[in-house]
Amino acid sequence: SLSDRLGGVFAALRGRGALNEADVRAAMREVRIALLEADVALPVVRSFVDSVTEKAVGQNVLRSITPGQQVVKIVNDALVDMLGSDTADLELDVTPPAIIMMVGLQGSGKTTTTAKIAKRLTEKDRKKVLMASLDVNRPAAQEQLAVLGSQINVATLPVVAGQQPVEIARRALNAARLQGYDVLMLDTAGRLHVDQALMDEMRAVSDVSSPAETLLVVDALTGQDAVNVAKSFTDQVSLTGVILTRMDGDARGGAALSMRAVTGKPIKFVGTGEKLDGLELFHPSRVAGRILGMGDVVSLVERAAESIQVEDAEAMAAKMAKGQFDLNDLRQQLAQMQKMGGLGALAGMIPGMKKAQAAMASGAVSDKMLIHMDAMIGSMTAKERAKPELLQAKRKIRIAKGSGTTVQDVNKLLKMHQEMATAMKKLKKMGGMKALMGMMG
Ligand code: GDP
Ligand code: MG
Repeated sequence: SLSDRLGGVFAALRGRGALNEADVRAAMREVRIALLEADVALPVVRSFVDSVTEKAVGQNVLRSITPGQQVVKIVNDALVDMLGSDTADLELDVTPPAIIMMVGLQGSGKTTTTAKIAKRLTEKDRKKVLMASLDVNRPAAQEQLAVLGSQINVATLPVVAGQQPVEIARRALNAARLQGYDVLMLDTAGRLHVDQALMDEMRAVSDVSSPAETLLVVDALTGQDAVNVAKSFTDQVSLTGVILTRMDGDARGGAALSMRAVTGKPIKFVGTGEKLDGLELFHPSRVAGRILGMGDVVSLVERAAESIQVEDAEAMAAKMAKGQFDLNDLRQQLAQMQKMGGLGALAGMIPGMKKAQAAMASGAVSDKMLIHMDAMIGSMTAKERAKPELLQAKRKIRIAKGSGTTVQDVNKLLKMHQEMATAMKKLKKMGGMKALMGMMG
């Protein structure tokens, strides 16, 4: 994986102040391979790597993380930046009917996605939607859309034999106007590869219908061809967005970067299945993680870098390795966990810790609880903190009084300490906090 490779490149680099050009270039060779493996088109890889190199050279390595982690963070941020930093929904704020034209190669998922969007607009936005198939090349294409329409209770334009796409578009537009539809979806024909006849037809349809949205539908598995596909469509019609289908499979999502780079348009949705509810808004940060192949690890490092020093974590890991985890450690951990979004959030990011997460969620660490817990630990003697098993009934009463809590609260604290000690043991089995922090460096 990318983390292993960067680990190798940066093994000799620990502790240096700023990233120099030679180091960054060495790291970028690995980033380049990771992007190609994720199916990003080569020209896009090149320009991306160039711009990230420029950004990275000279940056100071944060004291609390390794140079490898720093580079991954820079690459990740640049990816998110390029993919668009937020979700982008449809923009249909025009005089109705708002036209959505779907374009793309045959088999990319246009017809399916047309129905998915119609379903979303009908159910979520309460829009009155009409769908029309302009695919006269493929036998039964118009029937396919009608069948999907009946599944989701969305109207389709009745089929008239022998009509050409532009005529069908005009008829659909009239029907939508006369019958008061909010949205008209035009599902156009695709070819197996880009050809001029297809492009001419598409442009003619666009001219008669003036779409509010022209969406390019692309299979997420499209690799090096992505650039050509994107270019030829952008040259002919003005796209407003891209939809990436088949993201439910094992596509790493590199096509997203290629499409975004060439069209300059936002990716609005991803298709996540053959079923008609398999449509989601596009989340740039999620896809960036998928392209890098290190999703949750990136966010874990981000939070860790913000809130705790790796040195602290390593000291803690050393204590844990000796099987020590007393109430002083709990106190320190609680404060750190709080900063990182709670132990539940941390556990959720560590593979195999889902159970511990559920256990912790039941006693979620709230600000108020944290203050109470801190007060209780503060009321204990040094001996008690180091040896929680000393805390029998009498001592518990004293601590409750001293901290303004109840014996029940003290018991809860001790139970939590027990649960955390168990979770820590699990973490130790996986190589400990140190391994977790070092995963990327
Ligand atoms: P069109 O030729 O562009 O209209 O493509 P279709 O909508 O007919 O889709 C072609 C095939 O891809 C069909 O079998 C769809 O069920 C399938 N498909 C479309 N979108 C998705 C998706 O997001 N995930 C999966 N797994 N299959 C999809
Ligand atoms: Mg179709």
